[in-house]
Amino acid sequence: MKILLVAECREGRLQANINDLLGFAAKADAESALFLVGTQEELPKFAGTLYLADSSTYGEYNPEIHKQLLLDTIDTVKPDMVIFSHSSYGWDLAPRIAFALKAAQISEVVDFVDGKPIAPVCNAKLRRTVAPKTAVTILTLQAGAFSLAEEPTTTPTVEAISTTATGKIEFSGYQQADIGGVDLSKAQVIVSAGRGIGKPENIAIIEGLAKALKGEYGASRPVVDSEWAEHNRQVGTTGQTVSPKLYVACGISGAIQHLAGMKKSEFIVAINTDKDAPIGEVADVLLIADLKQFVPILTDKILAM
Ligand SMILES: Cc1cc2nc3c(=O)[nH]c(=O)nc-3n(C[C@H](O)[C@H](O)[C@H](O)COP(=O)(O)OP(=O)(O)OC[C@H]3O[C@@H](n4cnc5c(N)ncnc54)[C@H](O)[C@@H]3O)c2cc1C
Repeated sequence: MKILLVAECREGRLQANINDLLGFAAKADAESALFLVGTQEELPKFAGTLYLADSSTYGEYNPEIHKQLLLDTIDTVKPDMVIFSHSSYGWDLAPRIAFALKAAQISEVVDFVDGKPIAPVCNAKLRRTVAPKTAVTILTLQAGAFSLAEEPTTTPTVEAISTTATGKIEFSGYQQADIGGVDLSKAQVIVSAGRGIGKPENIAIIEGLAKALKGEYGASRPVVDSEWAEHNRQVGTTGQTVSPKLYVACGISGAIQHLAGMKKSEFIVAINTDKDAPIGEVADVLLIADLKQFVPILTDKILAM
């Protein structure tokens, strides 16, 4: 199998999600090529051919120009699969390519087994194995789903690519999202509330432990969607990515979208009534307990120290 990985560059900086792409390539054990609209100054390490369009010529993301550059590269490489990150770049460009090639697109792929992509369904409660029927398949990868055992050190063979395509869209700039309130990315200790807290009043239990540990409290998406906590406290792919010294996950099952935002924490403690909760796979300590009983006792003990 041959695959084409689509890396991303923003304001001259290669984006870290290239590691997900390389992790996928390693798992798929496929012959890989890499596509990038980027710069010679920030070349990725990659053992293969890098099809590089110079971003100083093409500027920041322009859908029509990037689409043409990528379609030309696909024509040269003739991959079986074209692999994007499930990022704002991937969300926008992947369906344009799928439509142009009349190719199947599978989004938010979380695993790849026996040559078939696996993607979440039913709000990530179930997974389905997909067998695309088209000659070329377009995939977008869920952040954090594929990781690299070790970073590559090889310099790629660079093939310069270009296009005369022009776009009707003009890039005007990036705008930093207003984080407002708390910035979890700077917290050394985060205690997070999951759906297991049961009701909004129980946020106080989580906040109490966070304060006792001189940290901040965070939340999983259902807690934020229920408006039990502000959005700037959400951890995960559609929230913040955090890497504190200590992360305490209370009543959080460990869905891949949550793990992607916190699995780089130095030490992870999970408190859960379910001994088989997937959070146990990344936790250094899994406490099987009812958080409503356990967390207040723990908080009192810490405050009494
Ligand atoms: C496109 C997309 C993006 C997403 N982005 C994010 C994101 O950024 N962040 C995020 O968190 N999710 C995100 N999700 C949702 C994600 O798939 C999960 O649905 C979500 O993370 C589950 O949250 P949870 O663990 O709090 O709830 P659940 O999965 O319902 O887990 C609750 C856990 O609490 C435990 N529990 C229950 N009662 C108790 C108790 N009394 N004491 C201790 N434990 C108890 C249960 O055993 C269970 O493990 C996203 C989903 C999609 C489709």
